[in-house]
Amino acid sequence: MFRILSRSLKAGIVTAKDPFADRAPFGFPVIDFEACTACEECVRACPTGALQADSPEPGRKTLSLSRAACIQCRECVEACPERAVRPGPELETAAYSREQLTERASFEVDGATGRASFRAMETLPGPTREESAAGLRERIEGRLGRSLHVRQVDAGSCNGCELEILATANPVFDLERFGIQFVASPRHADVLLVTGPVTRNMEVAVRRTYEATPLPRVVVATGACGCSGGIFREGTYASLGGVDRVVPVDVYVPGCPPRPQAILGGLLLAMGLREASGKGAR
Ligand code: SF4
Ligand code: SF4
Repeated sequence: MFRILSRSLKAGIVTAKDPFADRAPFGFPVIDFEACTACEECVRACPTGALQADSPEPGRKTLSLSRAACIQCRECVEACPERAVRPGPELETAAYSREQLTERASFEVDGATGRASFRAMETLPGPTREESAAGLRERIEGRLGRSLHVRQVDAGSCNGCELEILATANPVFDLERFGIQFVASPRHADVLLVTGPVTRNMEVAVRRTYEATPLPRVVVATGACGCSGGIFREGTYASLGGVDRVVPVDVYVPGCPPRPQAILGGLLLAMGLREASGKGAR
């Protein structure tokens, strides 16, 4: 007994005062579009289709980066001959839609040389982060308060996301200090925290779990797979893709896997206790 007490005293308090203060050595890639020539080397290197190039009209090109689909593999950083893509330190990039996690740049193509140069950032359709936050706040107004019961649903994950979700409950991140608790049944839950691309075998289970959750039920799609299908892509023989292909999603927490502070940030976003940060077109 004495030994246990002395060990606890020696360990002290391990809980991080501000779990969001940490910065990752590699978060999501950051593109310096001014230096980018839209050569598409990064697009060819990207295994998930997070980087996309398009030529909507003659003399114009677009390049977009979707954090919803990015698995932070750094292939684009290595592939860029202009050194325009670099690793970013951002960890916490939860948002309310896939569009808010996407940035798209427009380029002008020189007819003589074929070289593209950056023109402007484009605005993607859909509500802004502020509009989405206000909509969600209105829906949950006075219903969730400062306590949140979460049911985690694995719709086909590799379990990487689950390991990070488990870490949110450890003494370092200690999600219970924010009033967040995991529960065993969707009937007791306010939020469904869904991981993995939705496999065809799990489609009905995800729908039923959603229907069993009492209103105003909030859905948080977790990980690149939950946000977009990730490395498993969408509409394959085994996988439908992102969670929003099956049930409506309120908050997207990208990353492969997202770190515990990103998951915590997403849950606080769902409670209306934190604002969305990070880059995106909206
Ligand atoms: S880091 Fe993201 S955007 Fe870059 S190649 Fe990997 S998945 Fe694609
Ligand atoms: S996002 Fe990454 S860690 Fe999470 S389920 Fe998909 S592959 Fe696994």
